[in-house]
Parts: sequence; C-alpha cells; structure tokens
Amino acid sequence: MAALLAEWEELLQRRAAFRETLKPLSPILAAWAAWPPGRIVPLRWIAESWCACWAKGVPLLAEAPPRFQRENLDEVLGPALDLLAGFGEDLTPLREFAEGWDRGEIEPSALLPERGRIGAVEIQERCHLSQDALALLAAVGLRPALEAYFAECRPHIEGSGWDLGICPCCGAPPGFADLLEDGRRQLVCHLCGSAWIFGRLVCPFCGNRTAKDFVRLLAEDKDEGFAINACRACRGYVKELDRRVRWNAGSALVEDWGSPHLDLIAYRQDYWRPIPTLVQLAPPRAV
Ligand SMILES: [Zn+2]
Ligand SMILES: [Zn+2]
Repeated sequence: MAALLAEWEELLQRRAAFRETLKPLSPILAAWAAWPPGRIVPLRWIAESWCACWAKGVPLLAEAPPRFQRENLDEVLGPALDLLAGFGEDLTPLREFAEGWDRGEIEPSALLPERGRIGAVEIQERCHLSQDALALLAAVGLRPALEAYFAECRPHIEGSGWDLGICPCCGAPPGFADLLEDGRRQLVCHLCGSAWIFGRLVCPFCGNRTAKDFVRLLAEDKDEGFAINACRACRGYVKELDRRVRWNAGSALVEDWGSPHLDLIAYRQDYWRPIPTLVQLAPPRAV
C-alpha cells in the first residue's frame, strides 16, 4: 500500500490549505504502507462457488470469513485509536476497546462488516463506542488485511453482475464513488479496496430509486468534478468524483480523505455516511 502513501503525500502538497487538518491521518497511511501483505493467505478464487455466492447477493466474506490474527492488525489499529483519541472521541470507550483487544477478549472478527453495519453490535455496546468510532477502527484496522485477503477475487468482480449497494467482497457499504470515462458510476470500498459498478439513480444505502429524493451538492469551481450525492429518504450520502473532469486525481480513498470540506457541506445539512471522515469525528468548527 506504499502507492496510497505516496499519493497522500502528494495530495498534502497539492492541498496546502488542508495540510494541518489532514496531517493526523498520515500515520494511518504510513502504517498501511509498512504492513507486509505476505502475512495473509489470500482467499482462493473458486469460480463456481464464488459466482454462485454473488448470484445470491451474498458478499464473499459472509461465505468465507477471514480468520485474522490479532497481532497482524495491531500496528494499524494503534494509529486509528490515536486518531480517535486526538479528535476528542470519549477516551473511556477507546480504552475499553484497547484493553479488551489486548486481553484477547475482542476478536478481529468483531470488526468485520455484518449485514447492514460495520463491526459487531456487542463490541459497540460493551465498550460504549460510537458507530462512527467503530466504523473507523474497522476501516483502518482491516484495510491492509482485507485488501490482501480478497486480492485473487477482486479481478473477477467486473462482469459478475453484482448490483447491490454493498461491497461484493467484504459486504461493507461504499466509501466513495467514481464517475468513470464511460459515465458509469463505480462504488469503492474503503475496507478492502474493491470497486463495483452501480446504477447512478439508485441510493446504495436504502435502494431508493425515486429521482426527486436525490440531492446533488456540487463543489465550488476549484473542486470541479467533486459532488455529494445524498438521499433524502435515508439521509445517507456518498462523495463522488467525476474522473472525466479530474483524470489525474488519486485513488478513491486519498481523494475522499483529502476533501473534508465537502463532507462539511453534507454534515451541515444533516446527511450521514457509514464510514466517517475527519468532519464526522471532529466538531466542524475545528475543520
Ligand atoms: Zn470491501
Ligand atoms: Zn437512501
């Protein structure tokens, strides 16, 4: 994941005005880049089984859940906990999570996406963590391991006919959307790095197809190509980047994390996203 770190550093140069705001995210990208992917045995691609799984609308993780070792996630969970602590998240739940994790009472599987949510509800209740905090811990803590785990399956997503609003590999809700050269919308998963084509006039969160419920908030001139796609029915939103306008933009995750000012627009209008950015974690005044 060294490429993401290089893109991130380039973005910090490009978006000088946000450099200080975004700096707290840098240790996460550095920890990902230092993480050796060879630790994880990738899920073998078994065409018959996994295509059948997708045909039923079941993400691969539900059928073949990974068994990650706690030690393999430690180096990346640390920076995530530091980030949350530094952003004013209540320290007691974070301490409870860290202690439960160290004592082996919280399993890595507790962070995995489940139907309709990220991370196990038992852990959230046990530690009194906010859903945003748990989603961030999962997204940061699992990303390198899940990316490695699904490495052999990802190339088969295209043409699979998967058309749900969750990741075909890990089942997480989308973190970002790209408008591709041909005008199709591609959703991107921040938990495992997968991407899949999804209808432009459907809400990935609630499946709503009623055009009048969709709100498109466009960025100002200097952020041409960026948009917030929100749904009035469920109040969820996805940030979107038109790659036809910004052909030289970086990876979805880097562009997402690097544009918190756009999340602020959505946040102020009471829209939510399943995986928080700095705006959801820190009081807006501080961003
Ligand atoms: Zn995924
Ligand atoms: Zn919706």
